[in-house]
Amino acid sequence: MTHIYNFSAGPAVLPKEVLAQAAADMLDWHGSGMSVMEMSHRGPEFISIYQAAERDLRELLAVPANYKILFMQGGGLAQNAIVPLNLVGHKAQPATIDFVHTGSWSGKSIKEAARYATVNVAASGKAGAFTGVPPQSEWQLTPDAAYLHVCTNETIDGVEYNFVPELPAGATIVADMSSHILSRPVDVSRYGVIFGGAQKNIGPAGLTLVIVREDLLGKALAICPSAFDWKTVADNESMYNTPPTYAIYIAGLVFQWLKRQGGVAEMERRNIAKAELLYAALDADDFYQNRVAKEYRSRMNVPFYLRDESKNEAFLAGAKQRGLLQLKGHKSVGGMRASIYNAMPIEGVQALVDYLNEFAGR
Ligand SMILES: *Cc1c(COP(=O)(O)O)cnc(C)c1O
Repeated sequence: MTHIYNFSAGPAVLPKEVLAQAAADMLDWHGSGMSVMEMSHRGPEFISIYQAAERDLRELLAVPANYKILFMQGGGLAQNAIVPLNLVGHKAQPATIDFVHTGSWSGKSIKEAARYATVNVAASGKAGAFTGVPPQSEWQLTPDAAYLHVCTNETIDGVEYNFVPELPAGATIVADMSSHILSRPVDVSRYGVIFGGAQKNIGPAGLTLVIVREDLLGKALAICPSAFDWKTVADNESMYNTPPTYAIYIAGLVFQWLKRQGGVAEMERRNIAKAELLYAALDADDFYQNRVAKEYRSRMNVPFYLRDESKNEAFLAGAKQRGLLQLKGHKSVGGMRASIYNAMPIEGVQALVDYLNEFAGR
């Protein structure tokens, strides 16, 4: 049977070991006689699952003690509204939020935040067709902005930050890390808030992680729904309302898997090797094209185009025959996209590279 490699941008590939563990636990978790799906979120069994997940994530990302980790619902898009709802309440209204527009997802964040605040687009990569991050020297930041929002990995455009923005003391950076969280070490203390939907690099859809510095809690607008008020969620250990229990359980298994692999430093090493292998095949001649400036190319999401786009369908059909799945690009940009998250082994990238070479007649 052909080995299957899944290059979906999300929901995305999960480690086989994690899925096997979930299958073994499905009907009876650790002799409890229950599936995790059937457990009360307030019972001792689930509380132990939740606490282990929180502890392991804190260890993996070296989250400082003055940051809360919240397990929420609604995905990255809902968090685009939840973030401004939580961070502008203490300001004269309307508050101003700075954004760096680097692609589709920061664009969506701008639209959503504009409902609750004045948006200042401090810099935009639009004129360059989102092929890089505008250098910070060109950003037009607002002196008393509530915060700066960045999307540190643009999942659709394949643009990844290679630096942490430098802001004056007291200024807050909010980062949407949905599609590269846990792919590399990150200095959490440089950010006020880090958030991410789980279905790219963590686990199943339905779970959103929020890592927030404690002094940023309690600044919500009065209209913020209580289930989305970070302070309420934090004060109740993410159990103000029912959290996405099964997704938290799977995320917890992924965190344990990451620890067994050697943590995020080892993930970064592997992700660099995978990305170099794939980009080298795309750059070998002009049969394929990735348009992102080399220093901002994403290690996680690799969009590419065939020079002759009339061959797109044939390319995808041949890929599918070889077990290389979900390579079609996002409908808004066309072309192809290979997402090579933590759970994609280098063998999968090698299989794709072999096919790229074969299809190009090399
Ligand atoms: C996928 C994604 C989102 C949106 O996630 P949903 O769960 O679909 O709301 C937001 N930001 C980034 C960077 C993403 O990749």
